[in-house]
Amino acid sequence: MSDTPEPSPESKLSIEPTAETIPWYKEGLRFGCTGCGNCCTIEGHVWVDRREARRLARHLGIDLDAFGKKYLRKVGWRYSLTEVPIPGVRGKRACVFWNGVCTVYPARPRQCRTFPFWKENLESPETWLEAEGLSPGVGAGRLYSIGEIEDLAAGKGETGGG
Ligand code: SF4
Repeated sequence: MSDTPEPSPESKLSIEPTAETIPWYKEGLRFGCTGCGNCCTIEGHVWVDRREARRLARHLGIDLDAFGKKYLRKVGWRYSLTEVPIPGVRGKRACVFWNGVCTVYPARPRQCRTFPFWKENLESPETWLEAEGLSPGVGAGRLYSIGEIEDLAAGKGETGGG
């Protein structure tokens, strides 16, 4: 017989999920890319790490240095894809790879692959509502489970269309 005491009912309860540990999106969230391009034309940065830059360079068939010079800009200690003016739309800029569609789709960075399931969008129903305002695909389309959402928020996997 073991002399390790049985956990008390209270200590068992303490590992059960609580209202504080269950995310507000426990029933899942919907997203379906409509191809609107809003996430490629909003103000902000498209962060690219070295691995992603290599992948993009390989996709384009150029070396990493040439890729960096042409398509990256340094922001603090990180790198973002450059932006270009949108023809005919004054004052608005788009990701350098946006041309009505993403021209590097198979090699797009993690930030693009996981939109809109970013930690900042998942903070609360209110931040998710703000993301819904950015793109008609947010809140519509396929239902992503809590597990899928948490993987995407951790940078794993990718969302698809529809
Ligand atoms: S890399 Fe592609 S998906 Fe990402 S912002 Fe640029 S155009 Fe959009």
